[in-house]
Amino acid sequence: MIIDCHGHYTTAPKSLEDWRKRQIDNLKNPALGPKVSDLKIGDDELRESIENNQLRLMKQRGSDLTIFSPRASFMAHHIGDFNTSATWAGICNELCWRVSQLFPDNFIGAAMLPQSPGVDPRTSIPELEKCVRDYGFVGINLNPDPSGGFWKEPPLTDRWWYPIYEKMVEYDIPAMIHVSTSCNACFHTTGAHYLNADTTAFMQCLTGDLFQDFPTLKFVIPHGGGAVPYHWGRFRGLAQELKKPLLGDHLLNNIFFDTCVYHQPGIDLLSRVIPIDNILFASEMIGAVRGIDPETGYHYDDTKRYIEAACINPEQREKIYEGNARRVYARLDAALKAKGM
Ligand SMILES: [Zn+2]
Repeated sequence: MIIDCHGHYTTAPKSLEDWRKRQIDNLKNPALGPKVSDLKIGDDELRESIENNQLRLMKQRGSDLTIFSPRASFMAHHIGDFNTSATWAGICNELCWRVSQLFPDNFIGAAMLPQSPGVDPRTSIPELEKCVRDYGFVGINLNPDPSGGFWKEPPLTDRWWYPIYEKMVEYDIPAMIHVSTSCNACFHTTGAHYLNADTTAFMQCLTGDLFQDFPTLKFVIPHGGGAVPYHWGRFRGLAQELKKPLLGDHLLNNIFFDTCVYHQPGIDLLSRVIPIDNILFASEMIGAVRGIDPETGYHYDDTKRYIEAACINPEQREKIYEGNARRVYARLDAALKAKGM
């Protein structure tokens, strides 16, 4: 079985985007804005948006199940206030849940949180609880920078975030550390801000002692871990200077990397530098990089091809495709076991 731990609903019907535009147009007077009930998307529309896109490519490329969350760049937590985000997150999560109901063998949800700059993360807990308890979601996306490129929140190791971690531990769900749109002209959203955030999140964890307080907390750092695997020597050296334990003991029981790296040498490096037990298959397909690589003739985000060609043995490949995801996403494992898988 091949589990893709990083998929977003980037192909949602246009009416979702139109609803969001109206919400943003009425930020100053939400009473004049659209009601949740104004958004009407039928099951046929949802089915079509998936069958012609993600599901078509999953079948073509040979993956089976995608952990599916709302479109990351559309989370845009910087817009409006907590209520703006709460309404928007509720809508987006419900759509992902409906997709998981329409295609239960191919999609399972991960939640976007209703974060808002400067707002206590505790306020995200009711949405998180609903998504896990009622929707059967198996993870969350946690935005370390709801301000969209200005980094106004404390680092992830700060007690500010602990209420979310306590809930994650209680439910045994991991968080993918995932930023959203950049509002800072210096940082291109997917080319710089995403990768900066991946690297930054790792370094925050390196300098802190978060996992001493939460030994079972799990983070998935997407996009291959940003610059982390490439600069593993630097991080090992910094940990040494900071008198931290070896990275394997300090961070690798809790931090995992996905395979959203869009060329063979990148995957080769990832699988050579980072222990195989810490790598989860993912493609983030129909996402940031949708084109075809002229050097190979295949889509950049067809990451399964790189895993197939990587210099690893079949047992290691199975861990990347399935075993590690089932270990990190305990609720996914339980859901699969309940189906006899
Ligand atoms: Zn993503």
